Amino acid sequence: MIGENTLGETPPPDMAASLSHVVKSYRLGATSVVALRSVSLSIAAGGFVVVRGPSGSGKSTLLNLLGCIDAPDAGSVRLNGIDVSTLSDRQRTAFRARHIGFVFQSFNLVPVLTAAENVAYPLQLLDLPAAECRARARAALDEVGLAGLYDRMPGALSGGQRQRVAVARALVKRPALILADEPTANLDQETGADLIALMRSIQRATGCTFIFSSHDPKLIADADQQVLLRDGAVIDMIKRQDLFRHHRQEMRLSNELA
Ligand code: ADP
Ligand code: MG
Repeated sequence: MIGENTLGETPPPDMAASLSHVVKSYRLGATSVVALRSVSLSIAAGGFVVVRGPSGSGKSTLLNLLGCIDAPDAGSVRLNGIDVSTLSDRQRTAFRARHIGFVFQSFNLVPVLTAAENVAYPLQLLDLPAAECRARARAALDEVGLAGLYDRMPGALSGGQRQRVAVARALVKRPALILADEPTANLDQETGADLIALMRSIQRATGCTFIFSSHDPKLIADADQQVLLRDGAVIDMIKRQDLFRHHRQEMRLSNELA
């Protein structure tokens, strides 16, 4: 599976994710900053999960570890049963290229490539034939509502359109796991809400596991699970059934007060 470079039409594997006693710190000159302190959590395959927490609480660090962009100092990160924290850098990169799509807060499109070329890029890394890369890139752009903008340069797209290109780039290889780090932070509220709805519909249609970070309470109502971080630690995990219960209690309370 690792290193496999054909896509085929097989559905993605169930990508459950779990962290066990994960510690991650960054070196800053002579000192070090602890970003995650003994974080343990589990996320079910096929979930639409939001990681919440104030700025500096460790959201990006957590997503980077789940996304195989970085490795923990201690503890384990398991994806689909594989302990990715024990992989070599090369194996981790190969796992990521095949199974994980990433959406960044600042879009991270290549400015000198067209929308379609940006989206095709992850497929080229998997050594797929050029014609197939092109066809799949266009289909992914159609999926995010950008049909006809294949040849636009990123500089000639709005912020919302750029982030849709980034979502198309994340989903084009049909990854089992899509991660999105504050994907709406650089968008206005309405465009952000549209983007979350798009991500939710993609997650439902493909059955992938989708984990995003946000601290906007309006954008998280639809999540199956919420992970709350503070100062590098998980302070709460709320699952869907509990979210319903919270909501019902709030409704009852407001009816009683009315
Ligand atoms: P969030 O995404 O929730 O804002 P981060 O994961 O980016 O949080 O950061 C968690 C902590 O780690 C913060 O204290 C931050 O300053 C620190 N940090 C993050 N990245 C680095 C880095 N590259 N070098 C030094 N410190 C960092
Ligand atoms: Mg962040």
